[in-house]
Amino acid sequence: MLNIVLFGPPGAGKGTQSANLVNKYQLVHLSTGDIFRFNIKNETALGQLAKSYMDKGNLVPDEVTINMLEAEVEKYTDAKGFIFDGFPRTTAQAQALDAFLEKKETVISLMLALEVGEDELVKRLLIRGQDSGRADDTDESIIRNRINVYNEQTAVAAEFYNAQGKYHAINGVGTVEEIFGRLSSIIGEASQ
Ligand code: AMP
Repeated sequence: MLNIVLFGPPGAGKGTQSANLVNKYQLVHLSTGDIFRFNIKNETALGQLAKSYMDKGNLVPDEVTINMLEAEVEKYTDAKGFIFDGFPRTTAQAQALDAFLEKKETVISLMLALEVGEDELVKRLLIRGQDSGRADDTDESIIRNRINVYNEQTAVAAEFYNAQGKYHAINGVGTVEEIFGRLSSIIGEASQ
């Protein structure tokens, strides 16, 4: 299996690049943010809980997020591999994912980390907020909080994969095609 963690701060382009990677490698795309938003739209108990954190730009608690992600993975018994987008966001989530995949006799193949400077992220998210319908993309203080949460709680998760020799930093500035080219060449090298 090819299991990719697509990593990076909010606005780095994870969603956009996931769509390209899914097409090229026929992977199942799991975005925890998308799954939470689906639950909010359908007014589930999980959605209600997640919303109280998401509206402020804070992380949904690990236990809730991990259980949800594991249940999603279980739905795809025939998958060739997964793209984890927006998960893991803490070291505890990374550890739980490893333990869970081990039970399924598979592993994370690589982490691809998109790097984009903070000012560019804020600019992109404010533009996205004009038509994404996402409340957390329209308020600059919430956007800045999401970036701080990334720096303080999420960035450390990269160390977990670095220690396993799976971490790859990618310049996330450029055209969509350029960035996709960078991602594809790393996947190509890693799968040889
Ligand atoms: P995203 O769509 O990845 O930008 O995520 C939107 C929001 O969903 C985040 O700001 C968090 O509140 C929540 N969220 C998404 N993924 C996770 C995760 N792995 N752990 C905790 N909270 C998450």
